[in-house]
Amino acid sequence: DPENIFAKILRGEIPNDTVLETEHSLAFRDIRPQAPLHVLVIPKGAYVSYDHFAQEASEAEIVDYVRAIGEVCRREGVAGDGFRMISNAGAHGVQEVPHLHVHILGGRNLGRMLTPA
Ligand code: AMP
Repeated sequence: DPENIFAKILRGEIPNDTVLETEHSLAFRDIRPQAPLHVLVIPKGAYVSYDHFAQEASEAEIVDYVRAIGEVCRREGVAGDGFRMISNAGAHGVQEVPHLHVHILGGRNLGRMLTPA
């Protein structure tokens, strides 16, 4: 879906608060932060989900993406105290934006992993 909000951010049609940009990845602050640190990391390629990315992305894209996520954690100061990565996919994952994104959350104790639906 080339009209999804992250595709528009990648095309420069919508502003974003960039934390890190690499050859194949972009990290920016979530517009509705759920923790003191809430950054989204997306690949620049049009991959919908983690499994899609893992299957079809090049090795260069995958290495870039994995390293970008680690770099954001270090730059934003959560590597020491800890953080959580979440990537929602599909209906059961309640994915809102159909472009792969990893949420990086930190800056406070995040509690248990899931609360009952
Ligand atoms: P998900 O439910 O995993 O698809 O998460 C989508 C995330 O994108 C939510 O946390 C939103 O707050 C965030 N979001 C939506 N629009 C924007 C935007 N324009 N800039 C930054 N984050 C956004």
